[in-house]
Amino acid sequence: MTRLYLDNAAGSFPKAPGVAEAMADYLLHNGCNLGRGSYQTAAEAEDIVLDLRIRLGRLLGFGDPSHVVLTSGVTESLNLLIRGLLGPGDHCIVSGFEHNAVMRPLLRTGAEWTAAQLDESGHFAHSEALFRPNTKLVVMTHASNVFGNRLPLEEMGRLCRERGVPFAVDCAQTAGHLPVDMEQLCADALCFAGHKGLLGPAGTGGVLLRRELARRLPPLIEGGTGSASDRMETPDLMPDKFEAGTRNIPGLWGLHAALGFLEANAPAAIAQQEDALRRAFLDGLAQIPGVHAVCAPGVGQTGVVSVVFERLDQAEAAWQLEEQHGIQTRCGLHCAPLAHRTMGTFPEGTVRFSFGIFNTAAEIGRALEAIAAVCRTA
Ligand code: PMP
Repeated sequence: MTRLYLDNAAGSFPKAPGVAEAMADYLLHNGCNLGRGSYQTAAEAEDIVLDLRIRLGRLLGFGDPSHVVLTSGVTESLNLLIRGLLGPGDHCIVSGFEHNAVMRPLLRTGAEWTAAQLDESGHFAHSEALFRPNTKLVVMTHASNVFGNRLPLEEMGRLCRERGVPFAVDCAQTAGHLPVDMEQLCADALCFAGHKGLLGPAGTGGVLLRRELARRLPPLIEGGTGSASDRMETPDLMPDKFEAGTRNIPGLWGLHAALGFLEANAPAAIAQQEDALRRAFLDGLAQIPGVHAVCAPGVGQTGVVSVVFERLDQAEAAWQLEEQHGIQTRCGLHCAPLAHRTMGTFPEGTVRFSFGIFNTAAEIGRALEAIAAVCRTA
């Protein structure tokens, strides 16, 4: 039985062509750190990483490569922002669909928070009333990792800009899957992961930071940067201020190769392709008794669908899908209890199917047959 991987929201597979080769090339032929040595191979490693910052900025609508900060992923980027900007007495606005990568650091700060809810038309209800005098940050996911609904962040971004409140966007589920434009979103910070829609390796990602925000944000981690080594204090130089220690350079070379692939396959075309898979899946699912998709409000959808098996425990259903049919999904609460509470699927959870650019219509058919078979035996 061949494996059918439908868990791209957790991490994309397969990776873009050339990613593994680029990582091997770095490990076999380069191996140098960034910003340390002045020899030729170190300069080559730095050139690739600088080009990566330029390409990431171009892909995500941000023209300031020195402010493309490279981290281990969205979790680290969100921790940097949330812990750096909030403390007791402050207030933060989130959406009702946040991942624990937002909620856990937010609770740690001791700040008050409000979850903005979407009305049935997919827009934020009473959004102006959410702001308080002590609102210091708005942080929201661009699309839910559980239900795939895209949030109307352009509206929220404009409100933040009018009020001078920093707006941070979690693009874990949209970067690479659909067009993302930091300017259109009016975002001050945009967090992205390399290992999902960008089709790169795990342990890569980052945050694009507007200059005003970068200036007043303290670093999360401090140490050697290879720059200003005469001083014991962390330099304000960007991106060094937020990149102490050694980066995941093999991963960054892999991500660089992935961006080459993405540039040849524009996110708008990828979005169309993944949307066709999602529609075919939903059409087929509607014909199967004993199972339904949970549809959340929003202003669009990604290729992520959460399914409830009506006569089975969700973990049992996911287990049968893999054991008997080779279909790999993710069941449970998807690190997002707030999103499940918002949609009434807490604590039972759902079985999540998440599609990627390399999935095919035939694979959707195979998944639907497997779901029907699991439902028949329930
Ligand atoms: N936010 C969302 C919406 C996510 O889906 C994820 C990954 N599941 C994260 C944050 C965490 O991202 P990372 O794995 O890059 O730390």
